[in-house]
Amino acid sequence: STSLAVYYQARKRERRAAQYQPRPIELRREEVLSGVTGLIGNTPLIRINSLSDALGVEILGKTEFLNPGGSVKDRVALRMIEDAEKNGLLYPYTGSRIFEGTVGSTGISIATIAVARGYNATIIMPDDVAEEKVKALLALGAEVERVRPASIVDKKQYVNLARRRAIDFGKRSSLDRANSLTDNGSPHLLKSPPSVVISTLSTHATSGADADPRADEDIISKPRGFFADQFENKSNFEAHFDGTGPEIWRQTDGRVDAFVSGAGTGGTIAGVGQYLKSMNEDVIVALADPEGSGLYNKVKYGVMFDRKEAEGTKRRHQVDTVVEGIGINRLTNNIELALPIIDDAFRITDAEAVSMSRYLVHNDGLLLGSSSACNLVACVKLVRQMGWKDGQKIVTILCDSGTRHYSKFWNDEYLHTANIPNDSHIVLDLLDTP
Ligand code: PMP
Repeated sequence: STSLAVYYQARKRERRAAQYQPRPIELRREEVLSGVTGLIGNTPLIRINSLSDALGVEILGKTEFLNPGGSVKDRVALRMIEDAEKNGLLYPYTGSRIFEGTVGSTGISIATIAVARGYNATIIMPDDVAEEKVKALLALGAEVERVRPASIVDKKQYVNLARRRAIDFGKRSSLDRANSLTDNGSPHLLKSPPSVVISTLSTHATSGADADPRADEDIISKPRGFFADQFENKSNFEAHFDGTGPEIWRQTDGRVDAFVSGAGTGGTIAGVGQYLKSMNEDVIVALADPEGSGLYNKVKYGVMFDRKEAEGTKRRHQVDTVVEGIGINRLTNNIELALPIIDDAFRITDAEAVSMSRYLVHNDGLLLGSSSACNLVACVKLVRQMGWKDGQKIVTILCDSGTRHYSKFWNDEYLHTANIPNDSHIVLDLLDTP
């Protein structure tokens, strides 16, 4: 562990330059919350008793599955929509439509908030994700388009398609506007910009936040398309930097030794990690990375792929996967914000995640989704690697509930067909418990 200490010291120096300044914490203490969005965030932190007792440390889980949309993604969806409203990119009750490419959780969160705030939603997702998510989306009135899983360079990849659909919607509503304006004899208004907005770091930085869009009758009366773009949108990072991170700091009285998280868009690990490091740079931030994801190699060796990994890498894009929501093979704005503050990474197999989920349901009564299970396997691996056993505090995210995963991760028949072992000894071996 001397060489580990030297390694962490070096990582600490590297990341100083990239650090973000914390903002004051705003706590909501209303007794009556305003509608469904009032329920988002401020989730409890629980001690995972079985693992904590077995390891002699405190394994603490942030119960994000308690958010009204059922996952950590509610925070991100709310922040992206609020920021878009502030920047004049979305207007409620005008037929405006939010487009997003997602494996499901973000879509459900967007669809939920869209209803509450007067928008429509179109969700593009791969067709191999658990059916439960599609059912929830349809129940919420979202338009759902499912595509074959493909690499991000493919035009039909779900994120690219969501962007495309937003642009088409914008063009259509611009055309509608043009026609209706020509009809009523106001051709000069044809010069209005197309009504699609691609939300990226740069448009956020340059959009006119202080112009009051409500003054513009033309804009309010016409529908707009907004591509939420969770992978590149910095509101994702900020939801965690301003929310999840400060909440964890407060809930642990600033005594937290490590934060462990997987990364899908990277927003959670970047936002929480950067906030905790800004409060105490000795907090260790560790990545839980599933099979087939390139992030593990990026953190460990500075490159996304190596030859040996090529098979596994392909798998995540083209074949059914059992762990949903984490793992990625490309760099995004939110991943870039995370890389400087990630100290270490752990590769988690499907079998380890399955084993952990069954261990937790039997010992703690916690029925969790696949990414939460990956996070907890990584917690155990980190504790073992560090040799911790004296009450150190390790915080992780319980991203969503197992109820969203009955058709795959929690379906023994599916696991059998997919050749993924369901073996309780895997976790017992990790814990060194007979
Ligand atoms: N778990 C689940 C269930 C998710 O849907 C996601 C988001 N795709 C994550 C974890 C990962 O979070 P992030 O996007 O912040 O990296």
